Amino acid sequence: MTTTTTSTSTVDTVSVVDTVPKQLFIGGSWQDASDGGRFAVDDPATGERLCEVADASPEDGQYALDSAVAAQGAWAATAPRARSEILRRAYEIILERREELALLMTLEMGKPLAEARGEVGYAAEFFRWFSEEAVRIDGGFTRTPDGANRVLVMRQPVGPCLLITPWNFPLAMGTRKIGPAIAAGCTMVLKPAPQTPLSSLALAGILTEAGLPEGVLNVVTTTDAAGVIEPLLRGGGVRKLSFTGSTQVGRLLLAQCADTVVRTSMELGGNAPFIVFEDADLDRAVEGAMVAKMRNMGEACTAANRFFVHRAVADAFAARLAERMSALAVGPGIEPASQVGPLIDAAGRAKADGLVQDAATRGAKVLTGGEVPDGPGHFYPPTVITEVRPDSDLMRAEIFGPVAAILTFDTEDEVVRAANDTEWGLVGYLFTQDLDRALRVGERLETGMVGINTGLVSNPAAPFGGVKQSGLGREGGRVGIDEFLEYKYLAIPVVPVAADGRG
Ligand code: NAP
Repeated sequence: MTTTTTSTSTVDTVSVVDTVPKQLFIGGSWQDASDGGRFAVDDPATGERLCEVADASPEDGQYALDSAVAAQGAWAATAPRARSEILRRAYEIILERREELALLMTLEMGKPLAEARGEVGYAAEFFRWFSEEAVRIDGGFTRTPDGANRVLVMRQPVGPCLLITPWNFPLAMGTRKIGPAIAAGCTMVLKPAPQTPLSSLALAGILTEAGLPEGVLNVVTTTDAAGVIEPLLRGGGVRKLSFTGSTQVGRLLLAQCADTVVRTSMELGGNAPFIVFEDADLDRAVEGAMVAKMRNMGEACTAANRFFVHRAVADAFAARLAERMSALAVGPGIEPASQVGPLIDAAGRAKADGLVQDAATRGAKVLTGGEVPDGPGHFYPPTVITEVRPDSDLMRAEIFGPVAAILTFDTEDEVVRAANDTEWGLVGYLFTQDLDRALRVGERLETGMVGINTGLVSNPAAPFGGVKQSGLGREGGRVGIDEFLEYKYLAIPVVPVAADGRG
């Protein structure tokens, strides 16, 4: 049994896994898969099995959706203040259990405990933010220009939602969808990634404790994503799909949604440019690069994927980044000294390494890292490569690993063109001390978000999302709840006042 000592408590890894229900959560009750199926959840730091959870069949998925549909009417009619207070209570419980949730996440996903604690706080903030938004859903009242009609505009919950999340931020990707859905009055079926189901199951328990009525949130864990999801999307009961994951799967789901005209939000992949101009404060640029590249071991849609550094400062920047990267401690996330945990699985590591080897074959120089270590776990060393040729595979693929690939540029036009030369458009980063340039380049980047002299853009109070093939819609901020609301307009004729003064 492993015990981890943290600043606030001592939590043991076996009991933290034991306390999470391993069943499907449907209609307010925990239950096994109808065919008794289960699948294994492994620790990516050791390759060892953590536990098994229920493996939902298509029938279970339908049952979960039926529960969400049945609960929709009463939930939509629930007072906004009541919905708000459930979210607020859940926010508080999450923070009270920060250590347990962080450890759980580290065990199933691999990120270092310090980062997992950060994610718990980030995840909880979506509940606090949307608890505040739940009571601010507004509408409108106007007269038509000819004065003949009143226009009463209201906003209503879109209806039962299907939420699909990836493994890289197991808790926050859930709360970023569940928070606005609860606030708006929608019921839902959540399908988390099979690598990291435990955080979502723990979240279902917390929301139940916080008073969420049965059927409002249903959680189906499964290894048969396509088999469970496609019939639900085609069956007509789902009114909204909110998906976070790869662009490839996003495209497939959009096609399925087209047939029954299901409304969608798509938070997809990225290929973020990180631009360092010659006038940048290099300390801030290197610090920003460490955050934009190394948060979550590079397994983030917002991860800096292509570093474009002005020729005049490229050598200095690369040397300093390589020094910082090579000093990071790689090891199991539950060890307090670890700063870089394992990648999610063997395929993820093979992909990152393959991209490095491809670039090296084409003439890139590896300053640090670039070698798969021996031993258990899917570890990959922080890697910096320079002189990367633009035709290298990693210019067009999401690296999803701790690999910083550096190219040089000479002019602003050239770098903007290169940064935009991708089908993705989630986020870009730029470092300069020239305000005019920062705004000009910020406006020209074809991305949904731009970090100016910062390597971190994610914030529950800001609209997160991409353009081009990085997605549709926004999560968080004032607009996050809009994704779960429909406009309805009531037309009310103005009846002229009669001659006797009565309407
Ligand atoms: P993924 O392979 O697209 O999977 C995402 C989710 O979709 C998982 O739960 C997955 O379950 C499910 N899924 C896969 N095929 C499906 C299908 N045919 N029908 C229904 N569901 C299906 O992505 P991932 O590898 O988990 O996550 C990494 C990707 O997510 C990266 O591209 C990253 O950029 C993106 N991401 C984007 C954001 C954002 O906000 N823009 C945030 C985080 C991550 P299975 O694993 O069982 O297939």
